Amino acid sequence: MTLSGPDPAAGDVLNNERFHHLYVHLPFCRHKCGYCDFNAYAGLDGLMQPYVEALERELGCAAERHSFGPLATVYFGGGTPSLLPAAAIGGLLDRIRSLFEVEAGAEITLEANPASTDPAKLETWRQAGVNRLSIGVQGFDPRALAVLERRTDGAQARRAVGQAREAGFTNLSLDLIYAVPFQTLAAWEHTLSQALELNPEHLSCYCLTIEPGTLLHRRLTRGQLPPVDVDVAWQFLERCRSVLIGAGYRRYEVSSWSRPGFESRHNRSYWQCRPVYGAGCGAHSYARSGESARRWWNWSRPQEYISSTSFVEDGEDLDPRKARAEQIMLGLRTVDGLEPPHGFETELADLEEAGLIARLANRVHPTERGLDLHNQIALAVL
Ligand code: SF4
Repeated sequence: MTLSGPDPAAGDVLNNERFHHLYVHLPFCRHKCGYCDFNAYAGLDGLMQPYVEALERELGCAAERHSFGPLATVYFGGGTPSLLPAAAIGGLLDRIRSLFEVEAGAEITLEANPASTDPAKLETWRQAGVNRLSIGVQGFDPRALAVLERRTDGAQARRAVGQAREAGFTNLSLDLIYAVPFQTLAAWEHTLSQALELNPEHLSCYCLTIEPGTLLHRRLTRGQLPPVDVDVAWQFLERCRSVLIGAGYRRYEVSSWSRPGFESRHNRSYWQCRPVYGAGCGAHSYARSGESARRWWNWSRPQEYISSTSFVEDGEDLDPRKARAEQIMLGLRTVDGLEPPHGFETELADLEEAGLIARLANRVHPTERGLDLHNQIALAVL
């Protein structure tokens, strides 16, 4: 059900569980990459200051309206958070600490683009308490980066990682994209080996999906780019699996690989359907009450968000069955799996028969095949 009326967040209506996880969206980018369908904008740097002020107002309202913390994770995502002056990130963290209790060992992540990362910023982020960086490398192969319209290169990525280590970061995640048009298996292997030389604690390896509305989609529909065959994409994934397992990483989620103990705590909160407060333009929040849940989202365009009074555009209630279906769908993205909620016995039996899930004690887990074909799990339960 879509809500209407002045207060779609309606935190006072639901007796929500406390929020232990905070997402902060920073939508600014230097350039819009060809594959990007995120809520990100180039050419709006002039709005950074009023945007950060609006974020501070929203966080203040959230602290009055909802029950928080202690916060176990804070995640600055985008967009390109590293584009903002480093002092702005420090100021936001100060504001967060003044409004909410933050756990002593909280995971505080910032998404960084290699092109907008430098030693001074890294030092300021560290001093401010950021302890995990998610670096948007995407690849080391100039041709794949060009197809993606990504204006960074392998040398910048290596430099950013080296500088992050020098600044004392001991928890780095690198994003990589595979199955890019024209990309060869050999080029993907080379990208993986280049990434491994940097010894990251975590890797997110995404199969390229070309979403409507993106530049790549327009090129694809005009015949300027070849589609990537499903069998070819499968070979890329197989190679990713063998290389990363061989290097000591564990695949703990559909697209996520880590050294033991370096799984993303923030992302795990989404997969476990824990309450997450999302601040900033287009950010989604998720709250639970008993068997039901509510999701709401903010105005997506920075200008709308800055000038709004309530920040929230709209929201929806999830009835108990829909909330449970999402819980299963998201829970089965990770090897942790979940205790299956009632009402989905037939769907889960079918998935088990298809070899996509397995039962262990009283939990269900995705098999390796289930991780590969997670979309089939989603289709079966939603
Ligand atoms: S840097 Fe990231 S968020 Fe920004 S345009 Fe590129 S893919 Fe999108």
